[in-house]
Amino acid sequence: MKLGIVGLPNVGKSTLFNAITNAGAQSANYPFCTIEPNVGVVAVPDKRLDKLAEMYHPEKYTPATIEFVDIAGLVRGASKGEGLGNQFLANIREVDAIVHVVRCFEDDDIIHVDGNVDPARDIETINLELILSDMEVLDRRLDKTRKMLKADKKYQTECEFFERVRAELDAGHTARSVECTEEEAELLATVSLLTNKLVIYAANMSDADFKGGVENNPYFAVVEKLAKQENAGVLPICAEVEAEISGMEPEEKQMFLEDMGLSESGLDRLIRECYTLLGLISYLTAGPQEVRAWTIKEGTKAPQAAGKIHTDFERGFIRAEVVAYDDLMACGTMAAAKEKGLVRSEGKEYVMKDGDVVLFRFNV
Ligand code: GDP
Repeated sequence: MKLGIVGLPNVGKSTLFNAITNAGAQSANYPFCTIEPNVGVVAVPDKRLDKLAEMYHPEKYTPATIEFVDIAGLVRGASKGEGLGNQFLANIREVDAIVHVVRCFEDDDIIHVDGNVDPARDIETINLELILSDMEVLDRRLDKTRKMLKADKKYQTECEFFERVRAELDAGHTARSVECTEEEAELLATVSLLTNKLVIYAANMSDADFKGGVENNPYFAVVEKLAKQENAGVLPICAEVEAEISGMEPEEKQMFLEDMGLSESGLDRLIRECYTLLGLISYLTAGPQEVRAWTIKEGTKAPQAAGKIHTDFERGFIRAEVVAYDDLMACGTMAAAKEKGLVRSEGKEYVMKDGDVVLFRFNV
C-alpha cells in the first residue's frame, strides 16, 4: 500500500515525512530498505504479531508495511505546470490514498504561503489544482463516450453520469463527494481521477493543542466539517511531536506517550485510519521460521489471500487451516487449539477475517 503526502509549503509535510523515515529505520528486526529519497517505509503496528513471536520465537519477524511518498511541490498553478506541476500530479496518480497535511498551528516565524492560517482556503487551493487536472482527464473520457453514444444508445446513462460529475467538478467539488450508486461508483473508478482517491486530512497542530484536546484548536473543527462533506477521513496530528518520538527506543517512546496521556503515536493512528479507510485487514502466518502479517482487502476469499504469499498457493489451493487469533491466544498453543476443535478447515469460498492465523494447504 502506498500513501502520498500532500499539502501546501510550510504546513509540516517534511517534518511528518522525516518522522516516518526515522520510525522505519528504528523498527529493529526488519530490514527497511530505502527505495528513493522521497519514499519512506514503516511497519504497520500489530501487537498480535508480537504475541505470536513470543509464542514461536521465529527466525524472522515480518510486519505488514506501508509506503509513504512525500509529494512536495504542490503550489497554486500546479495543474498548469507551475512548481513541479505535472510531475507532482503523476506522483499522486500512483498512490492508493492521500494524506493531505493541513496547517492548523500558528507560528509567526513560519511563513504561510498565503499570509495567514486558514485551513478551509488551503484545502480548497490544493483540491482546486487536483480538480483542474481531473477536468482534463474526464473531458477526454466524455469525448469518447459521446462518440460511442452516437453509434449506440446504451451509452446514454454513462454519458449523463459523466456529465453530472463534470458539473460537480466545475462547481469546485471533488469527485469523491459526488453522490453515486454502487454501479456509478464502479464506473467512476474506471476514470483515473485524483479527487476520487481516498483522503485523510491530517490537521497539524501545536503540541499544546494536541495534548490539551483538539477542541482547543479552532481550526480542527473546520477541517473536520470539510472532511465530512466529501467522505474523507480526518486526524489530528502534531508533526513535531512525531518527529521527536520517531527516533526513540520503544520503551522510551511508550513512556513519552503515556506522559502525554496517549496510548499510541499519531503515526500509528494514521496508519490504522488508512487501513480502515481503504478497507484493509491483516491475516497472520506463524511458525518457527517466520511470523508475518499480510495485508488484504476486506472480503477477500481464502485462495486470493493465499495468492498474496505465492501465486502457486492460489493456483493449487486445497484448503486453509484457520484459527482466530483470540482463540489461539486463549488456548496458549496451536496444539491446544486443535484439540479444542478451534482450528477450522476452510475451503475456496471462505472469506478471510482480520486476525485469522492461517496455514494454507496447496498442491501444484
Ligand atoms: P513542509 O514545507 O510542508 O514540508 O513543512 P516543514 O515540515 O518543512 O515545516 C515547516 C516549518 O514548520 C518547520 O520549521 C517546522 O519545524 C515547522 N512545524 C511543523 N509542524 C509544526 C507544528 O506543529 N508547530 C509549529 N510551531 N511548527 C511546526
